[in-house]
Amino acid sequence: MSLGQSVLVVDDEKQNRTLLAELLASECRVILARNGIQALERAREQAPDLILLDVMMPEMSGYQVIQALQQDDATRQIPVIIISALDAPADEERGLDLGAVDYITKPFHPSIVRKRVRNHLQSVHRRNLLENLAKIDSLTEIANRRRYDEALESEWRRCARSGSPLSLAIIDVDHFKRYNDHLGHAEGDHVLHRIACELNRFVRRPGDLIARYGGEEFVILLPNTDALAAANLGHEIRASIEALALPHPNSPVSRHVTVSMGGISAVPTGGEVDPKFFQEADAALYAAKAEGRNRVFWRHG
Ligand SMILES: [Mg+2]
Repeated sequence: MSLGQSVLVVDDEKQNRTLLAELLASECRVILARNGIQALERAREQAPDLILLDVMMPEMSGYQVIQALQQDDATRQIPVIIISALDAPADEERGLDLGAVDYITKPFHPSIVRKRVRNHLQSVHRRNLLENLAKIDSLTEIANRRRYDEALESEWRRCARSGSPLSLAIIDVDHFKRYNDHLGHAEGDHVLHRIACELNRFVRRPGDLIARYGGEEFVILLPNTDALAAANLGHEIRASIEALALPHPNSPVSRHVTVSMGGISAVPTGGEVDPKFFQEADAALYAAKAEGRNRVFWRHG
């Protein structure tokens, strides 16, 4: 299996770590930790797909590690398999009660461990696929509003921590109702798909996101981007949509399909997204429409 998955092996005994690392090398990338503190650090920084956790360790037991993992949003969803010399049913029950997905007793049978890890990694992979599918808009095949909401929350916090500007644009297809009324909904869907493809060309950096917000509205999220750079990109996007020259026979704005855009740039503060951020961009969009559409208005927060 080469899905780029990783497993964090936590054990205070070097011999066990080495053994498990060799055992799993053919299945995934192996990350090692020799105590609970190191395990929590690596889990947070490297986001492994699965954790193999020893119970009896000095300072912090495996049970305490599980509890700490569950208290952190970044590590809560990582499945944990306990590997322990404690083989009484009560120990196994305690581990499973704490949320471990599996319990393997020592001494373990190498090929059984390998196969169990393989099975759990496959479940993780399937779960990730389903989660990603649930965040794609089926018509345009770009991110949907749910994905956008999540990205906004995490980029807001990230930019607040680093003191960097975050920019947001809302894009609305001009007179889209007229387009649908005149040419039919199938053509309307086709235009939305075409616009989404064009917008996608402007996603250049890892944190940038283009999503369908709903109906004929799209959003663009640009972390670490100030108002000048974001508005420039906005103008480029508006021009590129017009240059597609998609006929819009019933538009009072142009012979072609055009978009209006409202944007906002601000340095986020606090851990929660300020609802004004979106409202300001929406107000700028409203102003762009009121001024005659097919234009970009940008606000500074
Ligand atoms: Mg131990």
